[in-house]
Amino acid sequence: MNFLEERILKDGVVKPGNVLKVDSFLNHQMDIALMDQMGEEFRRRFADKKVTKVLTIESSGIAIACSVAREFGVPVVFAKKSKSINLDGDMYVAQVESFTHKNVNNVIVAKKFLSADDHVLIIDDFLANGCALQGLISITESAGATVAGLGIAIEKGFQIGGRVIRNLGYDLESLAIVESMDADTGTVVFREQ
Ligand code: 5GP
Repeated sequence: MNFLEERILKDGVVKPGNVLKVDSFLNHQMDIALMDQMGEEFRRRFADKKVTKVLTIESSGIAIACSVAREFGVPVVFAKKSKSINLDGDMYVAQVESFTHKNVNNVIVAKKFLSADDHVLIIDDFLANGCALQGLISITESAGATVAGLGIAIEKGFQIGGRVIRNLGYDLESLAIVESMDADTGTVVFREQ
């Protein structure tokens, strides 16, 4: 079992509706030493990749993305959620349905922060149905940039996102893959990696 899986078993809480709550170390209060460990682990897993930028989505992905970006010595760009429908032409826009809030957001990145010669490592905290990652992939490809890889802290392997993204041929690495979880008993079972 790796460091993140151990921490999930210790401090994660399984909620009804297929939600894993990790707000004591990742989503609200944040354990920065853990973020740095994740940064090092993603650096190791994507060691053979050229990376010029780390891209994430606000807000929970940002802290992990910062640790990853420090390891690679590159900037972080985070996609902003915007309710506005009057978006000007200086933005790349994707529509992302939120798994936790059940609403649809425009997510935007200013064109000046992504260009065709960028090699983008996409980072997020959770992977469920894959909408957030699909939006970030779409923004990257709209810029003509290359998706170097995708790094996720916690993938819920019983939801479809991971399978869809891997079937599209992307290099997706998840530090912990939850195979099953049960809100009644609080049990979490990880996929062997
Ligand atoms: P997806 O777009 O893959 O359906 O969902 C990923 C996004 O939803 C992540 O950015 C994360 O913020 C949120 N999310 C999905 N599932 C969970 C979960 O079980 N727990 C928490 N805390 N966030 C989740």
